[in-house]
Amino acid sequence: MKKLLLFIAFVLFLFSCKKESNTNPETLPNSYSDQALGKSANDMLSDVKYTTLNIQVQYMPGYELEATTITNLTTYLGSLCNKPGGINITQTQIAANGNTFTVDSAAITERINRTAYTSGNAIAVYILVTDGFDTSLTTLGFAYRNTSICLFGKDIFTNSGGIGQVSRVALETSVLEHEFGHIMGLVNLGTPMQVFHQDTVHGNHCNNTHCLMYYAIDTHTGLGMSGLNTVPVLDSNCLNDLHANGGK
Ligand SMILES: [Zn+2]
Ligand SMILES: [Zn+2]
Repeated sequence: MKKLLLFIAFVLFLFSCKKESNTNPETLPNSYSDQALGKSANDMLSDVKYTTLNIQVQYMPGYELEATTITNLTTYLGSLCNKPGGINITQTQIAANGNTFTVDSAAITERINRTAYTSGNAIAVYILVTDGFDTSLTTLGFAYRNTSICLFGKDIFTNSGGIGQVSRVALETSVLEHEFGHIMGLVNLGTPMQVFHQDTVHGNHCNNTHCLMYYAIDTHTGLGMSGLNTVPVLDSNCLNDLHANGGK
């Protein structure tokens, strides 16, 4: 029963991400990076404007992403984005915070610490891994601007890696790949749908319960106990949308 409860908690956490348009007051020094979520979908997927993808990860002490998570993310994005110049991910530590985190406080922390911005033929994405947690207690991460993602490192730590829990790598990878799905315009968030598959009740998510972009996975489908450490994948509708918008 404990395992089941932990499992349910995992799936509820996993896909309860939020998305916000660019309404926060923290203007970044790079106007390209100050756009609403979904605006860079085509730039991420195609090589028309940007041939290289640079990802800057900044984590608070104790919440560094696992090396395998970085490898998984590189493989995932490499399979979807046309970036012949390569995909580069750097990871550095920033000062501890320890407070609860909202979209606004993530934006403020990004404004203070982010140094990688889009320029020339390279598009840059920022990932903040906090030592705080979300006040709603239902969120492990969210994408909040066209190239900005926040992960609640403490919540991920608490909900993974223990007995009966999903592995940390699987949880980090699932949350990051889901949030990058939004950055790439899923679902109907800057990348047009080829056929209708939006779960409109839950915003910009997929209506396929098995898909990575589903807002939640119920206990009857998706990740069963035997497949606890399996990272969900994009379904054909989501893949077709990305391909039609310049992706591989
Ligand atoms: Zn989402
Ligand atoms: Zn889908």
